[in-house]
Amino acid sequence: MGKEKAIGIDLGTTYSCVGVWENDRVEIIVNDQGNRTTPSMVAFTAKERLVGDAAKFQISSNPLNTIFDVKRLIGRQFTDSSVQADMKLWPFRVVSQKNDKPMIEVRYKSKKKLFAPEEISSMVLMKMKAIAEQYLQSEVKSAVITVPAYFSDSQRKMTKDAGRIAGLNVMRIINEPTAAAITYGFGRAKEEKKHILVFDLGGGTFDASIIVVRKGLFEVKAVGGEAHLGGEDFDNRMLTYCVQTFNNKYKTNLSRSAKALRRLRSECERAKRSLSSVVETVIDIDGLYEGHDFFLKIRRAKFEELNFDLFDQCMEVVKKCVEDAKLSKCQIDDIVLVGGSSRIPKVQEMVRDFFDGKELCRAVNPDEAIAYGAALQAAVLKKEEVHMVIVDVTPLSLGIAVSGGLMAVVVPRNTPLPTWKETSVTTPHDDQIAVSFEVYEGERPLVADNNLLGKFVLTGIRAAPARVPSIKVCVEVDEDGILSVSAHDKGSGASNEITIANEGGRLSIQEIDKMIADAEKFRREDEEEREKHVVKNALECYVSNMRKRAMKAKSEGSMDADVAKDLISTITDAEEWLDDNYSATVVELQDKLRELELKCPRLFSSKRFKFTKAEERK
Ligand code: AMP
Repeated sequence: MGKEKAIGIDLGTTYSCVGVWENDRVEIIVNDQGNRTTPSMVAFTAKERLVGDAAKFQISSNPLNTIFDVKRLIGRQFTDSSVQADMKLWPFRVVSQKNDKPMIEVRYKSKKKLFAPEEISSMVLMKMKAIAEQYLQSEVKSAVITVPAYFSDSQRKMTKDAGRIAGLNVMRIINEPTAAAITYGFGRAKEEKKHILVFDLGGGTFDASIIVVRKGLFEVKAVGGEAHLGGEDFDNRMLTYCVQTFNNKYKTNLSRSAKALRRLRSECERAKRSLSSVVETVIDIDGLYEGHDFFLKIRRAKFEELNFDLFDQCMEVVKKCVEDAKLSKCQIDDIVLVGGSSRIPKVQEMVRDFFDGKELCRAVNPDEAIAYGAALQAAVLKKEEVHMVIVDVTPLSLGIAVSGGLMAVVVPRNTPLPTWKETSVTTPHDDQIAVSFEVYEGERPLVADNNLLGKFVLTGIRAAPARVPSIKVCVEVDEDGILSVSAHDKGSGASNEITIANEGGRLSIQEIDKMIADAEKFRREDEEEREKHVVKNALECYVSNMRKRAMKAKSEGSMDADVAKDLISTITDAEEWLDDNYSATVVELQDKLRELELKCPRLFSSKRFKFTKAEERK
């Protein structure tokens, strides 16, 4: 038995990818369809749950129960403006639950069911784990999972929760651009110090990072990005344009049909991809809505016009990131493009122009670089023979609310991780025995414009005049970029440590434990369903084969008429049984097959027919 392997998972908005360190290199693992990336999609049907390619294959016939883009929901509030905007274009339903938490509503096995975004993500992670286990032929327990550098504290925590629900020990959460930089730097151990810009434009997020790569040391200098900007937004722009064109032409409202929207969206995505290599393409869909066909010629220039402001937003982030790293453009030695959307020619042109015509690095695979880097990091943590040191940073400033609604920054953004910072606060009123704290992340001076992470109250402070007590507030951010805050009253001597409350709709330990149990239940049900397909298929093949042979024997007269009648009636009974017992269990199906396997050859052998079991199933 070899050493237990840890895997690296790039949990993408649209596609996920998994890699493992093996035989002194990273292997990107192909899935059961032979693909190196797997759609981050989960579908629920009356009978089963499907994940990955299987979910994508059936999306147009089951749009309401096929879930995608869940990375855009994780760690966000239902009332978040980006969630509200996305919901308008998603065919599936999202509802609000306690603490403003968004939940996904589906019909599964003919019942209404609600799933948390972490639960759906955990299903994708479980699929990636299973892909790796199939390849390695052993159980995988540990993983490094990547997140966008610009993911907030709650988005990171909830991604980690998703990993736990999937039954994984999440060894580390790493930033996607950092993972890509590791891929870039791996094998360049002898090269001189280089400043690289990782430009990561994926399906749902955009990240830019400036990283110093030097002989196995990866030091992040600055990160920037938009947690909600990527290929899906470009698809949405095209979709909106097509819907308007269609509605104007036929004086109707196509958005009323989830199925039509889904068909149109997937054609828009296909057209967008082809516009990266050709300058004109067509969108051609028969009977799209109310019997009307849709045909549209679209040019690359139109696509660029529809998305120009979004591309420009990416360049603004790059500009700021270079400034934050205190570098000038000409000090950037290499520009590494990752993420599927970085293939868009206009995006590449804008990046090149920004860096005064500098050639872009083509050394890493944009679809696999992140999983590759995550697998390398997993190997380091598992103490395989890979050596490197990674120093990442906080993407957003962290602080507490002080009088006047201002944010007192405790940990400025781009601080190297892990970090531990302390500040002192006091009481504004006489004899105050409790102080409430609000913890925020963001760059705006007023807390109202930043993101509230949590609140807590410190009680038991010794009564004293205003501004006398000295309360130490300690903010700690670990290597995963995950935050904990504590407060301690020096005056009373009483140490009162508090961790942030569950503000952002994060699941409680009990809820996570329940989801872990559910995930295991779903996994068993999926396996049972798969086994059922196999046995049912064998039974159906057997019955159809027997019918063909019986009919042939009857027509050739090579079988006694009574025996033939008996045989055909046995086969007809079996066919009826299959129709009537649509939801028969594996055991019932196996019993039926066994019964036929005993009965049919006996009838045949009464008239010179003898089969082996293999022959019967042919
Ligand atoms: P990722 O999250 O890195 O897997 O990127 C997926 C996104 O890249 C999706 O929105 C795809 O539509 C987009 N994408 C993939 N290939 C291309 C391409 N050739 N041109 C434009 N976008 C692409």
